[in-house]
Amino acid sequence: KLHNQVQEAKGNIRVFCRCRPLSKPETIAGCASVIDFDAAKDGELCILSNGSTKKTFKFHRVYTPKDDQVDVFADAAPMVVSVLDGYNVCIFAYGQTGTGKTFTMEGTETNRGVNYRTLEELFKIANERTETYTYNISVSVLEVYNEQIRDLLAIETSKKLEIKQASEGFHHIPGIVEAKVENIRQVWNVLQAGSSAGPLDQTIMLCIMVRANNLITGECTKSKLWLVDLAGSERLAKTDVQGDRLKEAQNINRSLSALGDVISALANKSSHIPYRNSKLTHLLQDSLGGDSKTLMFVQISPSDNDLSETLSSLNFATRVR
Ligand code: ADP
Ligand code: MG
Repeated sequence: KLHNQVQEAKGNIRVFCRCRPLSKPETIAGCASVIDFDAAKDGELCILSNGSTKKTFKFHRVYTPKDDQVDVFADAAPMVVSVLDGYNVCIFAYGQTGTGKTFTMEGTETNRGVNYRTLEELFKIANERTETYTYNISVSVLEVYNEQIRDLLAIETSKKLEIKQASEGFHHIPGIVEAKVENIRQVWNVLQAGSSAGPLDQTIMLCIMVRANNLITGECTKSKLWLVDLAGSERLAKTDVQGDRLKEAQNINRSLSALGDVISALANKSSHIPYRNSKLTHLLQDSLGGDSKTLMFVQISPSDNDLSETLSSLNFATRVR
């Protein structure tokens, strides 16, 4: 049944919802879980608000706090592997700060996330295909902050980076560092460089470029896989922030709502897709829409304290489904 739901998904957009466990401080503070996972196997999640009322949300997958990194990657793997077949793919994690976006994408040294597992899987499949293909895989790591792109692998980080469109329609960033990776050990070093980005919870984007050379037909293809850990989606109270912090919050809202607009326009088969409204959507353009494949993780907290942000994230997700 689940398999059918995925097949029937509108366009090529899948939405997976992942709920983290209640944290220790939350438990100590007496917070309770407002999520009912009884129908999680059917992709359903219920929110218990005000004691009795229930609100149900439907996804292609729902992960409970008990599901681990292996469970999550098992469902994402078929999509990431399609980049080796020439598809452009985009996977991103959306949600309030503290809900596990970085845990899902980056993971920890002992509990590695989608980024590392993706590259591991790509090398594994590439090695099984050496009679038919040679692959060249490279990784770039970017940060988008206040509508500016920063190359986290570059030594000279003050360089202004712009998105350019090549004649065949392919978007690229001239001057960006593309670290060629040949094995999983090299990948870990590159990912470490990207993760030491700094204290700000900004959008971190990994771009995996795959150049495939079919040894039988001689055909060469180039495809892109974006792995995106988005900035926190929480709304800041207007009175709480001023100056630089306000500008930053406005830019985050702008790029997240631009992303929502693009995905919902794609899901509704709209004739105009507003990619150019933010750097984020402009960067992802090749991997959102067309025959590319998109996967969104909506990350949520189970805590009653976070209920309003949780509802706002779930509503964002239903908008794009
Ligand atoms: P975000 O990137 O959305 O701000 P983090 O990934 O930093 O959130 O997660 C916040 C905390 O919760 C971290 O300590 C992280 O290890 C923990 N956490 C998140 N998701 C899970 C999970 N599914 N299982 C266990 N711990 C988790
Ligand atoms: Mg994070």
